[in-house]
Amino acid sequence: MIAAEDLIALVRNYNPRTNADLISAAFDYGREMHEGQFRKSGEPYFTHPVAVAAILTEQQLDDATIVTALLHDTIEDTRSTYSEVQARFGTEIADLVDGVTKLTNLQLASSETKQAENFRKLFMAMSRDLRVILVKLADRLHNMRTIRAMKPDKQVQKARETMEIYAPLAGRMGMQWMRDELEDLSFRVLNPEGRTSIMRRFITLQKEAGDVIHRITSDMIHELEKVGIEAEVFGRAKKPYSIWRKMQEKQIGFSRLSDIYGFRVITRTEAECYAALGAIHQRWRAVPGRFKDYISQPKSNGYRSIHTTVSGRDGKRVEVQIRTRQMHDVAETGVAAHWSYRDGVRSENPFAVDPAKWIASLTEQFDGEDDHHEFMEAVKLEMYSDQVFCFTPKGDVVKLPKGATPLDYAYQIHTRIGSACVGAKVDGIRVPLWTRLKNGQSVEIITAEGQTPQATWLDIARTGKAKTAIRRALREANKERYARLGHELARSAFESVGKKATDKVLEKAASRLRLEDAETLLARLGSAELSARAVVEAVYPDLAPRDTAEVELKRAVLGLAHGQGFERARCCQPLPGERIVGITHRGQGVMVHAIDCAALAAVEDQPDRWLDLHWAEGSHPPVYTVSLDLTIGNDAGVLGRICTLIGERKANISDLQFVDRKPDFYRLLMDVDLRNAEHLHSVVSALDAESNVASVDRRRMPDLAAPDDTAAAAE
Ligand code: MN
Repeated sequence: MIAAEDLIALVRNYNPRTNADLISAAFDYGREMHEGQFRKSGEPYFTHPVAVAAILTEQQLDDATIVTALLHDTIEDTRSTYSEVQARFGTEIADLVDGVTKLTNLQLASSETKQAENFRKLFMAMSRDLRVILVKLADRLHNMRTIRAMKPDKQVQKARETMEIYAPLAGRMGMQWMRDELEDLSFRVLNPEGRTSIMRRFITLQKEAGDVIHRITSDMIHELEKVGIEAEVFGRAKKPYSIWRKMQEKQIGFSRLSDIYGFRVITRTEAECYAALGAIHQRWRAVPGRFKDYISQPKSNGYRSIHTTVSGRDGKRVEVQIRTRQMHDVAETGVAAHWSYRDGVRSENPFAVDPAKWIASLTEQFDGEDDHHEFMEAVKLEMYSDQVFCFTPKGDVVKLPKGATPLDYAYQIHTRIGSACVGAKVDGIRVPLWTRLKNGQSVEIITAEGQTPQATWLDIARTGKAKTAIRRALREANKERYARLGHELARSAFESVGKKATDKVLEKAASRLRLEDAETLLARLGSAELSARAVVEAVYPDLAPRDTAEVELKRAVLGLAHGQGFERARCCQPLPGERIVGITHRGQGVMVHAIDCAALAAVEDQPDRWLDLHWAEGSHPPVYTVSLDLTIGNDAGVLGRICTLIGERKANISDLQFVDRKPDFYRLLMDVDLRNAEHLHSVVSALDAESNVASVDRRRMPDLAAPDDTAAAAE
C-alpha cells in the first residue's frame, strides 16, 4: 500500500502548496475507521481508498477531492458519521463524502439501456458537485482494475454496470482515457473471447505489415517538418472494445475494418493545427465525410481538436486528431481540468471549461429561472434540471418533473395512494403537500381511509397524471352530490306548489325539458344548470310561482297567529324552500327552525310549543343570512374571486371572518344573505366549481339556539 508520505508527495508534485496535514489526518482517520476490514483479495480494505486517491492525483485534483477519496467509504461502511467527518474535515469534505455515499447506495434496478440512461441522469442530478462524480468514477476504475478477486457473477454484474453507466459518464465528462479503460476492463469480463480474438488479429496483422504505427508516425513527422511544424505524433491501435463495437455496428469482419489505428498530432499553436492539417491532406487522401473541426466549434465539455481520416496508397485508413498541448490536456481530463493544479496554482488552461458553465450549457434549454446567476456562481450540478429524482422508503427511484409536489409523487406511485393521501414526510420530516420536491429526497406518503381528492389539489399537483386523476374523482363525487342536492331541490320546489316530486313527475319534466332521463334532470338541477322553477313549470305551467309575486317579509311565514312575531333560529338558519317548524317562546314570539335542526331535541317533549309553519310561496327578498364554512387555498386573489362569484349570483356577503390560517389553506366563516334554498344552492355550486375552494359547508350551530330553548324547557 502507498504510504501517507508517498501520497502527499504525489500531490505535492503538482500542488506544492498542498495541505499535507489535512491529507495526513484523513489518511490516519480512514485507516483507523477501516481497521479490521478486508477486500475480497485479502488485502486490508484501506488499500482501496488510497488507490482511489492515487488515481485522482493523476488528474491533479485539489486537496478536498483527494481527502474525499480517502474517506469515500467511511460513512457507508464504518462507524464514522457525517457529523464526525464534518467536525474533523469541514462541511465541504463532509458533503463530498456524503455525495459519494449517496451514489454508492443507488442500485440499478434493471440492466435495460433505457433505465441506464435514466440512471446516468440521476447520477448527475444527485451530485451537486462534480467532484463527487470524479471520486465515484475513480472508485469504480479501481474496483474494475481489481475485479478478478470477485465471484464470476458479481464480476459480470459490475462490468455491465460499468459499460452502461460509468464509461459513458466518463466520456460525457470529457475523460476519454478513463472511458477507454473502463470499457476495456468491462469488455475483458463480458466478452473475453471477443477481446482475445481481436488481440490475436493485431498480432497477425503486425506480422504481415510490420510496425505500421512506427512507419506512419515517422512519415507524418517528416511531412510536418517539411512545412516547418515541430509537432509530437503519437500512434496507437484502437482499443479492442472500440474495434469490436465497430465490427458489430457495421456488421463487418476484422479484415475489412480499415481504420484500426489512430494518430494524434500535438502542435504548439492553434495556427499550426490547421497548417498540420493541410500538410497531412496534401500527403494522404482525405476520406470524405470524416472531417470535423472541434477547434472552431468546441464541444460543450471543452473538447477541442481537428478530426480527419486519411487513406494511404494501400487503401488503409487512419484517423488523425490534431490539437495543441493545452487542448490535449483538456481532452484527457475533461471537466476535471477545472480543479487541476499546475505548479501550485489552479491550472490556467484557457480551454478548461468552468464546470458551472458547462452544466449551464447543458441545461440552458431547461433554465429560464431567475436563480440562473446563483446557479452559475455555485459550482453545483443540476443537470437535467427539468427533472427531479426522489426515492421511495424502499429506495426505488421515482422520476418527476421539476416543481413536483408530494401529491404528484403519490399519484406517480399509484392513483390509490394519491387519492388517499393526507400528508407526506420528506427525509422523515412532515411537510405540507404543496412542498416542492428536490433531487435525492426520500418521500413517504401518509394515507388514510376515507380520504378523497380535494378541489384544491388541482393547484398543488403539477403532473398531468395527478391532475387527471383528481379531476376524475371530483367529477364522480360531484355527480353524486349534485344528484342528491337536485333531488332535495326538486322535492321542495314541488312541495312549495302543493305537489309531489314522484319519479313519474320527474320523468315527465325530464322529457319536456328534452333531457335524457330523471337522473340527468336531477344532476342538472343539483349543479344549478337548471332552476327548480323551470322544472316545476315544465310539469305544472300554471302552478309555478310568479317572479313578480313579491311577498312581504312579515308575511313570509304562514301558520302564525295574527300579530305573532317570528325569528329565524340562528342555529339552523332556515331558508325559504326548506321545511320549517315554529317553537313558541313565552314573550318572545316564535323561533323558526329547520325541521331537521338538532336543537329541536331539547323541546321534543313539549308538543304544545310546536307550530306547523310554511314559507310563503313566491319570491323572497335576499335577507336570509346563512353562515358558510369555507376552506380555500391561500393563493393570491382567491378571496377576490370568491366575492365576485357570490356577487354575480346577487347574494350579499354580510360578514367575513378568518378562523384558521394555515400556510396552504385558509378557513373562513362567511355570512351570506340569500333569498331561498335555491339561491343558496346556486351560490354553493358556484363556490364548489372554483378550484381554489377546498370545501364549502353550511354551518350548523345547535349550541347557538340551545340556551334559550333549554331555558324554556326547564320552565
Ligand atoms: Mn469504494
